[in-house]
Amino acid sequence: MLISVAVPVPTLDLLTYRVPPDVARPLVGARVVVPLGSRVVTGIVVDLDVSSAGMDESEIKPIRRLLDSDGFVPPEVVGLARWTAEYYAAGAGATITAVLPPKARGARASGHKTMRVAAITAAGLEALGAEASRLTSRQLIALELLAGSPHGIPTPQLAAKGSTSDTVARLAARGLISLRHDRIDRDPFNAASFEAPPMDPDRRLTMEQAAALERLGHLAGERTFRVALLHGVTGSGKTELYIRLSTAVRDAGRQVLMLVPEIALTPVTASLFRQAFGAHVAILHSGLSDGERHDEWQRIRRGEITVVVGTRSAVFAPLAHVGLIVVDEEHDGSYKQEESPRYHGRDVAIVRGQREQALVVLASATPSMESYHNAMTGRYERVVLERRVRDRRLPAVTVVDMREEYAAAGPDVVLSRALADAIGTRLEREEQALVLLNRRGFATAVFCRQCAGTLDCPNCSVSLVVHGEGPARRARCHYCNYSVRVPNTCPLCAGPYLEQTGFGTERVEAEIGRAWPTARVARLDRDSVRRKGALASLLQRFRNGEIDVLVGTQMIAKGHDFPRVTLVGVVSADVGLGMADFRASERTFQLLTQVAGRAGRGEQPGEAIIQTLYPDHYSIQLACKQDYVAFYERELAFRRAMRYPPLVAIINTIVRARTFAGAMDDAADIVQRLRDDAEPDGLRVLGPAPAPLGKLRGEYRAQLLVKGSNRKRMRERLLAAIATRPDVQRRVVVDVDPQSVL
Ligand code: ADP
Ligand code: ZN
Repeated sequence: MLISVAVPVPTLDLLTYRVPPDVARPLVGARVVVPLGSRVVTGIVVDLDVSSAGMDESEIKPIRRLLDSDGFVPPEVVGLARWTAEYYAAGAGATITAVLPPKARGARASGHKTMRVAAITAAGLEALGAEASRLTSRQLIALELLAGSPHGIPTPQLAAKGSTSDTVARLAARGLISLRHDRIDRDPFNAASFEAPPMDPDRRLTMEQAAALERLGHLAGERTFRVALLHGVTGSGKTELYIRLSTAVRDAGRQVLMLVPEIALTPVTASLFRQAFGAHVAILHSGLSDGERHDEWQRIRRGEITVVVGTRSAVFAPLAHVGLIVVDEEHDGSYKQEESPRYHGRDVAIVRGQREQALVVLASATPSMESYHNAMTGRYERVVLERRVRDRRLPAVTVVDMREEYAAAGPDVVLSRALADAIGTRLEREEQALVLLNRRGFATAVFCRQCAGTLDCPNCSVSLVVHGEGPARRARCHYCNYSVRVPNTCPLCAGPYLEQTGFGTERVEAEIGRAWPTARVARLDRDSVRRKGALASLLQRFRNGEIDVLVGTQMIAKGHDFPRVTLVGVVSADVGLGMADFRASERTFQLLTQVAGRAGRGEQPGEAIIQTLYPDHYSIQLACKQDYVAFYERELAFRRAMRYPPLVAIINTIVRARTFAGAMDDAADIVQRLRDDAEPDGLRVLGPAPAPLGKLRGEYRAQLLVKGSNRKRMRERLLAAIATRPDVQRRVVVDVDPQSVL
């Protein structure tokens, strides 16, 4: 028999092997050890009884070994991975690598720690009743302890309670207890060390919550594929709904996949689920160690888990009976993987729901244009939560026109008078403030007043960002990490007139620290949380009230529930609007609405102050009014006029080359081959053009966009055109449904 095997080598597609007659018939999802050139690797069986058509039979090598008599990866997940590889035009190798737990690629999953666990036997229970007088007092104590724990107690724990190994051995010898070796699963909850405040189990749902739960519960009960868009304002109590819905799904014998956009959100969410599901909750994300991920994966696969909480890759979790998939903050761009396979976790979740007849709940206060459009056209059910719990009001939002501030106080202003006053008031009242600026660093560019040159990255077409203050400050590239000490004279003209322009989070943090020297100010961005655990501890300190003002990038806008925050300030709301990206307005609207929603989630009402140079821009105006529907309609008109998603599908293609001309020529060649036969299909090709990020890590980049309505057709045409140039193929990045076209 011939089988198709996916091996975890990113550049390889499916490979064909022979199963020798003396080896059992493998199942889809089983691991096989196969020869690959001069190496031997472990792959996953993807297809059985494949044909040898077009192949030289004598070239097909036999597998070396079959490692599993069952499917190691559930066949549903293998199918999902195949779909992902095809839809996103990624290789089978790259995709299977994303699906497998770490280390499973080696031979037998090994390296498990074990511990000895004692459990009372039936004879032991009897002895406790009838023959208690024949037991020593120590034996009696041990047996009584064990009688209270029918699943057993690890022997170190017994020892800690005074039952020595001697007592345990004697009880075991008399058959009153049994001893077994249990695998110790490394518990990522310990590493995350986060405890959500306990939920009040008797809390009454609001009327809106109750209605939504009833509707969703009904859909989940149907056991058919459905997608519901849960459109609920920030603070409307969506998490509570996920947990109650999950309980119903569990009681019906099925399992739950709970996806969140950021690693930082997993501990809080998981800990809330743990209050309801105890140990039957697993965490899966790339921030876990290989060992932790491996253990969690195995626990899920063994069927011990009811709820998996994780980031996008958890969509491939080896659950066998998924009944509910929740995609929280479904609009979030982090669900898209920006390396091969370039899949969107939300969209793969929908396909998984379809394949497994599950309910998929997409939840957000600011749904993506795609999801809302699908709800409007009737493909998704729409469930709405318009009010915050306990009738808390959405924050009052004020817009500050920074052109007036600059006119009044000069071009160097970072905090407007209104924002500065509001921060001061919060400090006096001992309330907390969040200040958002979606740009890292101290200054965004170094500029020469003599020759007008800027300090640019030698590898990328961007200017370097200054980090730090004083003589030790460095200028760094946010794309390739190149960095230099900031020079005193211009490297181009040797003039002494270098100036820093623009500002980022570090500068805001410094300004607030200078204005209120006794305030406890901290910063949350990718630079400040590089160390493992730093993020969780920063969030915890803020929640504990050990920080007064938290300055940060969009990382502070996501999902967190901080009841004592009464002020949200946004410095430069327009940072994202300058991007040459069709989603720029949507992202700005989402970010502003989400971050404003962080204010006023506790007893005190909240306020948001938004500084901008474009107070009339619709994404800023409508975010201030928190008017999602008006934004959607306005933005949809733009997308329709420009032929962008969700009204057409696009595939972004980047061709990389050592020279600019080389990249453009190769891209032009692919465009030509596409145009030769593309137009009749209603498929449009744009380009070639220099990519907005024209140079990245030393390579020049040209771009072409394919637009149309039939993705399968678009993909096939594009891949066929690329295949005519094998020399270019390796230098092409194909991105189906791109999040950004930079
Ligand atoms: P969302 O995810 O919709 O922004 P959360 O789920 O974080 O909102 O809920 C906001 C806060 O309201 C949380 O502190 C939550 O514990 C609380 N909450 C949720 N439901 C209720 C309810 N029915 N009554 C009182 N408080 C609630
Ligand atoms: Zn660079």
